[in-house]
Amino acid sequence: MLVFAKKKSVQQKIESLKKATSIGFVPTMGALHKGHLSLIERAKKENDLVVVSVFVNPTQFDKQEDLINYPKTIEKDLSLLKSVFCDIVFAPSAHEIYANNITSQAFDFDGLEFQMEGKFRTGHFDGVGTIVKRLFEIVKPTKAYFGEKDFQQLQIIRTMVKKHQIPVKIVGCDIYREDDGLAMSSRNTRLTKAHREAAPFIYKTLKQAKVKFGTENALDVVGWVENEFKKQPLLELEYFEIADEETLQTIKNKDIKQKYRAFIAVFAGEIRLIDNISL
Ligand code: AMP
Repeated sequence: MLVFAKKKSVQQKIESLKKATSIGFVPTMGALHKGHLSLIERAKKENDLVVVSVFVNPTQFDKQEDLINYPKTIEKDLSLLKSVFCDIVFAPSAHEIYANNITSQAFDFDGLEFQMEGKFRTGHFDGVGTIVKRLFEIVKPTKAYFGEKDFQQLQIIRTMVKKHQIPVKIVGCDIYREDDGLAMSSRNTRLTKAHREAAPFIYKTLKQAKVKFGTENALDVVGWVENEFKKQPLLELEYFEIADEETLQTIKNKDIKQKYRAFIAVFAGEIRLIDNISL
């Protein structure tokens, strides 16, 4: 496994290997867990060469304290990456990516950026678009792998690639969960014991909402979920929405031809957790 911190050196290495190979790329912010590894394993199966980036992107954090407290475990990450036979790791500094200008490019994601996470995390998706576009320019992958855990992000990246005509295939990957159903996240390590014990309630409620959506209208399901969370002293619901998978617009009436998904954000103490389920 080769590890690079400089754009130029990783680019040169990839260029020298590219001629005969397809490149699978998995962008991450490190603090790796089995969810990340499942993306890397899929990329291994579908490509000759796998590149993983580890970079805590400052421009996608709307709160400075969240950036400061984001777990950073590069040594452990590198040994995990080695264990899944990752070929190339790109772990740059913020200066290497942004020089002295840590700001985002402004994007138009056809309105996807104003839904859900966009309402609560100002500038977040401009930050995501900025870093992913830059990483794509450096790595020039054949396929790039993103988790459905961040479903809105996945749809936004698909839109960016289409609009900017970036020649890469975006692959969405299933959400990897703990045995008790909690979606794996680098943030889970920061939960207190009590919050960690309460957190599986999020996916349990999503599954129940899915069943209810079979027979009830969306508004009633939303009302039911909001009520369930009122009974949970350790979990504070930020939003629960049922939305169209393509437009991410909240639905008013069910149309059997459309695909829907339920999206949720919850505070477990200081830690913000997100999850979603296909309906
Ligand atoms: P992050 O390091 O949180 O930016 O995540 C890097 C990539 O891994 C993103 O595409 C995430 O959607 C994906 N990812 C994170 N957690 C999971 C999970 N539990 N299951 C599947 N993919 C995940």
